[in-house]
Amino acid sequence: MTVAEINIQGQAGQVGREAHQLITELYPICRSISGNGVRETLDRIGQHIPLTIREVASGTQVFDWTVPQEWNIRDAYVKNFKGERVIDFQKSNLHVMSYSVPVRQTMSLEDLRKHLHTLPEHPDWIPYRTSYYSPNWGFCLSHHQFMDLRDEDYEVCIDSSLENGHLTYGECYLPGETTDEVLISSHVCHPSLCNDNLSGIAVAVWAAKELRTTSRRHSYRFLFAPATIGPVTWLAANEHQTERIKHGLILACIGDPGKTTYKKSRRGDAEVDRAVAHVLKHSGQDYEITEFSPWGYDERQYCSPGFNLPIGCLMRTPNGCFPEYHSSADNLEFVRPESLEDSFNKCMSIINVLENNRAYLNQNPKCEPQLGKRGLYRKMGGQAQAEDSELAMLWVLNLSDGDQSLLDIAERSGLRFSAIRQAAHLLLQHHLLEVLP
Ligand code: ZN
Repeated sequence: MTVAEINIQGQAGQVGREAHQLITELYPICRSISGNGVRETLDRIGQHIPLTIREVASGTQVFDWTVPQEWNIRDAYVKNFKGERVIDFQKSNLHVMSYSVPVRQTMSLEDLRKHLHTLPEHPDWIPYRTSYYSPNWGFCLSHHQFMDLRDEDYEVCIDSSLENGHLTYGECYLPGETTDEVLISSHVCHPSLCNDNLSGIAVAVWAAKELRTTSRRHSYRFLFAPATIGPVTWLAANEHQTERIKHGLILACIGDPGKTTYKKSRRGDAEVDRAVAHVLKHSGQDYEITEFSPWGYDERQYCSPGFNLPIGCLMRTPNGCFPEYHSSADNLEFVRPESLEDSFNKCMSIINVLENNRAYLNQNPKCEPQLGKRGLYRKMGGQAQAEDSELAMLWVLNLSDGDQSLLDIAERSGLRFSAIRQAAHLLLQHHLLEVLP
C-alpha cells in the first residue's frame, strides 16, 4: 500500500485553500503559448515541486508543426481624444488578443471597430481571443465599454514583440519502482482565466506534491505545457519513450462547482478509463462520462492515431459548456476551494486504483480456504461490516485465478476498490495469495 486512501468529501480543506491561493498568484500573469508569462508561471510552479524547464527554439519542426516565434507584451491601450485609456491592458490582460502583432497607429472608430471583440450576450464580460498562427491584432472589451466609444480618432498601441525565441514547457518527473509511467498534463497558455487553465495546473501541482511523499510503483511525469504546440513538441522530442506511458490524465476545467466529467481516452476501455469510472461511480456524487472526441484539450495530440495513448481528460464542467468559458467571468470567484479539493481527492483516488491494481493468484484454489482458523472469519453472525470484508475476501479468492486484476474484481463484485484491495492485502499476509508480476 503506497498512496494514501483519501476520503471523497465536499469540504474545502488545506489543499483546496492552498490550490486556490496558487491560482490567485498566477491569475495576473499574462500567459500565451510562448514568452515570459509562461516562464514566470513555471517558475512559480517550481517553488512547489521540482520542475525541469525546457526551451525549444522557434522554427523547430515538430511533426507537421513549427515552433512559432516567441510573443511578449509590455503594454497596450486605446486612448481617446483626451488621452484617456479607454481600453487598458494594465487593467486586464484579456483586453489584448493573444499573439497580437505590434501596432502604433491613430485611427477612426470605424477602422478600429474591425479589431474589437465583445460578447453582446454578456455585456459586462471581456472575451478571450487568440490569433496564434496567422498575424493579426485585436482588442477585447466588454460590450458596455464598446457602446461607450464615441465616434472619434483613437491612438492605438500594442507594445508587443514577435521574435525568434523559444517555446517553454516544464516537466516534473517522479521516478517510481518501475519505469511504467503515468502522465498528467495541464496546459499553461491562458492568461487571466481560472477554470480553463489555472485549475488544472493547481490540482496537478498538489497531486505531484502528494505523490512525492509516498513510495510509487509507477513513475509519474507532470507536464505543464502550452496547449497543442506544447504536447506536439513534447511528443516529437519523446517519441521513443511514449510506450512507457501506461496511463494518463489531462486536467482542465477542474475547479468550478459543477459535477465531475470524464472524457474517455480514444481506446475507451483503457485501465485509466475504468479506474476513473470506478472512482466516480463510488463517489456518491453526480458525474458524467463521455466518449472520446478529437476536440477539446491535448487528448487531440496524445490520442492521435500514431500514439493512441491511454489518456483521458478529467474535468468538472467541460470546455465550452459553461457561459463563463473564455471570458473574464472565468475568474477567482468562479473556481472554488472545495471544488479544487474534491477534484484533487478524486485524482488521488484514481491514482490509488492505478497504483494498486494488480493480479494475484489464489494459493488454495481447491474449495475455499478455511478462513475461521486463520482468524479471518467472524466468530458471530449478523455483523454487517464484518460480512462486507468477508465478502470482499471471498470475491478476491474466487477471482484471483491469475487473469483478473483487483479492478476486475471490484467491477464484478460491485464492491469498492479500497475494500477489495484491503481484502487482498490481508489474504497476502496470510499466504493465501501471491502477487503476479
Ligand atoms: Zn481554453
